[in-house]
Amino acid sequence: IGRKNSSSEAPNDRLLGGLLSPEFDDKSCLSRYQSMLYRKASPHAPSPYLIRRLREYEALHKKCAPNTHLYNESIEQLKSGRSNGTMECNYVVWIPHNGLGNRVLTIVSSFLYALLNNKVLLVHIPSDFTDLLCEPFPGTSWVLPSDFPVHNFLDFDKGTPQSYGNMLRNKVIDDEMLSGSSNATLPAYVYLHLPWYYDQWDKLFFCGDAQRLLRRIPWLLLKSDHYFVPSLFLLQEYEEQLRQLFLERATTFHHLVRYLVHPTNVVWDYVTKYYRAHLAAADETLGIQIRVFHNFPVPFESMLRQVINCSLSEGILPAVNLQERAAPASKTDTKVKAVLVASLFSGYSERIRDMYAEHPTTTGEVVRVHQPSHEERQHTEQQGHNIKALAEVELLSFSDALITSAWSTFGYVAQGLGGLQPWILLRHTQSDLPCRQAMSSEPCYLMPPPFPSSHCSKDHGDAGEAAAARQYVRQCEDELGGIKVF
Ligand code: GDP
Repeated sequence: IGRKNSSSEAPNDRLLGGLLSPEFDDKSCLSRYQSMLYRKASPHAPSPYLIRRLREYEALHKKCAPNTHLYNESIEQLKSGRSNGTMECNYVVWIPHNGLGNRVLTIVSSFLYALLNNKVLLVHIPSDFTDLLCEPFPGTSWVLPSDFPVHNFLDFDKGTPQSYGNMLRNKVIDDEMLSGSSNATLPAYVYLHLPWYYDQWDKLFFCGDAQRLLRRIPWLLLKSDHYFVPSLFLLQEYEEQLRQLFLERATTFHHLVRYLVHPTNVVWDYVTKYYRAHLAAADETLGIQIRVFHNFPVPFESMLRQVINCSLSEGILPAVNLQERAAPASKTDTKVKAVLVASLFSGYSERIRDMYAEHPTTTGEVVRVHQPSHEERQHTEQQGHNIKALAEVELLSFSDALITSAWSTFGYVAQGLGGLQPWILLRHTQSDLPCRQAMSSEPCYLMPPPFPSSHCSKDHGDAGEAAAARQYVRQCEDELGGIKVF
């Protein structure tokens, strides 16, 4: 058992203040009701309205689940190729794209989008992603059946004629349809192309008229690699719902990711064994996530210096006395800080470990450095690699303090699960500071559509929408062009 909250907590804490349904069998997914034993207690309670909407969503999901009568009806509609308005069950199909962090961010974003529109979220689980996450909704499944009739959806990309952007560009969807004044039949499905390389047509998804039109389409297939929730906050459509769902807006991701993401027993076993062996005995734990991107290379020594400068200048780790050699720890009351390093490379943790092994700290504390794996390269196509990645995200989320890398969705997921405000290692092109503490545990929408939403057609009444909503987002700490919920 973890050390954090094992004592007396409110009896409903096991359910995270009502966020989680009590209906699950514990053993099938141990992490669901155990994570809170390892993480710092969250001071953020979910709103009663969020809890109610989640329970309603769970009922809807059960009613519309794969292979139910209503699911089959919606599938028949899909096969017919056209839509006569919404069905009783309408769906958002999540298409995986890029690494684990990207995937978790887009699952959460897609879920909120589905929740706001009373649609049901189904996820395609490729073989590299099987047995990583538990089912999040009780008594049902969120897995898209393998006989889903749109066979080539994994190939959907910017050139796909069924994408919302291309349908606008090619006038398959015209102004009359958007304004709701046309009787023309709508397609049975639309592909929402929202990865970072989306174009100005795809971005029109984030306009009020698009949202109203897409609500009438029974099947939406969505591919993204970003946390697009901040742009949902800018839509007047959702203003009132979101206000009630998230009384503290900057806890949106924190609540949703803890609701949806529960590692399977295989992953959890790895996490808890590692935790007990290396972290449980420490007085304090620090997570350091070091991500170096191929398209933004940083020399090893510069990155190491930045990590150490950040840790020391922010008082996260104690300084060492370079004049002295470290003596073996003798006193039993010595305070121990455990550092968990997550990185594809082993060099950083080795150097930090050496620093504290060779010299005593100026505070008398002992610093122990651990790194569970060093995979050298990203291998999202390998399930075993993804298990380690998810396990490390979980371990990072248990930390008392967290240092993350700018632009990394891997770090965003850890901070959200832990409800932590990380110190972000900034890119040297952005700042001379080694790091800056984030204002919340919200992820950044790194490449949002134009904001305010002046790109939306004036004819369709979106002008001014963003003005009222501007108070809901702020510029990100790690990307000046990015926005985060505030
Ligand atoms: P991002 O690219 O940093 O935004 O994060 P993603 O999670 O989307 O993609 C990076 C992928 O590289 C991860 O999912 C892992 O597969 C791998 N990776 C990157 N950093 C680490 C790490 O510290 N530990 C492990 N185990 N894998 C990592």
